[in-house]
Amino acid sequence: MGSAEHKGINRRTFIKVGMAGTATALIAPPAFAEALQQMAAAESSPFPKPVYRTLGRSGLKISVVSFGAMLTPEPEVIRVAIQQGVNYIDTARKYMGGKNEEIVGRAVKGLRDKVYIATKTLPGSQTKAEIVRDVETSLKTLGTDHIDVIQLHSLTGRERVFIAETREALTLLKKQGKVRFCGVTTHQNEVEVLNALADDPERFFDTCLVKYNFKSDKAVSAAIDRAASAGIGIIAMKTQVGGYDTKGLGRISQHQAALKWALQNPRVTMAIPGMKNMTQLREDIAVMGMPFTYADLRRLDRYDEAIAPFYCSFCGSCENGCPRGVGIATVNRALMYAEGGYHDLPLARATYAELPRQATAAACIDCAGCAARCVNGLDIAARMERARGTLA
Ligand code: SF4
Ligand code: SF4
Repeated sequence: MGSAEHKGINRRTFIKVGMAGTATALIAPPAFAEALQQMAAAESSPFPKPVYRTLGRSGLKISVVSFGAMLTPEPEVIRVAIQQGVNYIDTARKYMGGKNEEIVGRAVKGLRDKVYIATKTLPGSQTKAEIVRDVETSLKTLGTDHIDVIQLHSLTGRERVFIAETREALTLLKKQGKVRFCGVTTHQNEVEVLNALADDPERFFDTCLVKYNFKSDKAVSAAIDRAASAGIGIIAMKTQVGGYDTKGLGRISQHQAALKWALQNPRVTMAIPGMKNMTQLREDIAVMGMPFTYADLRRLDRYDEAIAPFYCSFCGSCENGCPRGVGIATVNRALMYAEGGYHDLPLARATYAELPRQATAAACIDCAGCAARCVNGLDIAARMERARGTLA
């Protein structure tokens, strides 16, 4: 998306266009039929008017609920979101083994001027050659001539913020017009990463995609505040805390409540919930403009109780207690991808495979007794055993 103003069309116009045939090129059956059925069924609750906030010093105006595409199998769902004013799509080189960028590329065909695309280099990339290779591959796979926000994937500390060779590559890519803004992502040790961005005298990075939800420590909110004051655009992820199945809770929408919780912080520009289908799209974008209420707080209390037996915040505190250096937080994140609302075994296995073999749960097999202690009371040995069965 360039500087052109977004020109969204409303739901009624969309259906009309679809019936006239134009949108059949945009939305192929059966997803097209599903989209129309969903919209017709929701006659009484049309898509909301989108709400936009400014993404830090980039100046980009972004819909407060934007599109996390990591789990989206059909480009048509993304296309409907764009038509409804969602104007930022987040993907990554790694998702679906590279296929996710292909899906996003198909989704934005003909709509590129209405949407910003954010993607991520591979988590291990840091040399000039690796960064350039990743970006060139992403451009080709996405079918675009520029990436609006390129992000270094999955930082766990300040080191990768300051690697000179990485910056050199990103600067070159910016000069070539292949990327517009640079960011980082973090879901572990978020405070250190956010502070590094704020403290950077060069202010090299423009955005931070950060795990932020109602379970986040107050220190994360403080670091977000500090980074936002330094002009860093803040994008919230993992807002729904893994999206765990909550059938036992009855008819509550903890997902909307969790999204609203993150968005009530004015320092957060937007959230990028992962949306697989029209039902999730409708549920998530409905919260734009909605206030966070006392009822939402009660919902989150109940959700919190329900997920307590398996929720890991990836804080990493337990890792100091493990003499073998197991990456317990990463193993638990991989398990969440397999067992939480994601149900994405390939992503879970890819995340697990990022750990060196000696830091996987395989190291626990002949451990005499687990010395790692979880601040939330999780049975770490049992989790590691589960990971070996599911992810190895
Ligand atoms: S069982 Fe616990 S202490 Fe032993 S290697 Fe595994 S995580 Fe570390
Ligand atoms: S298992 Fe517990 S201590 Fe370890 S990272 Fe997860 S929440 Fe933190």
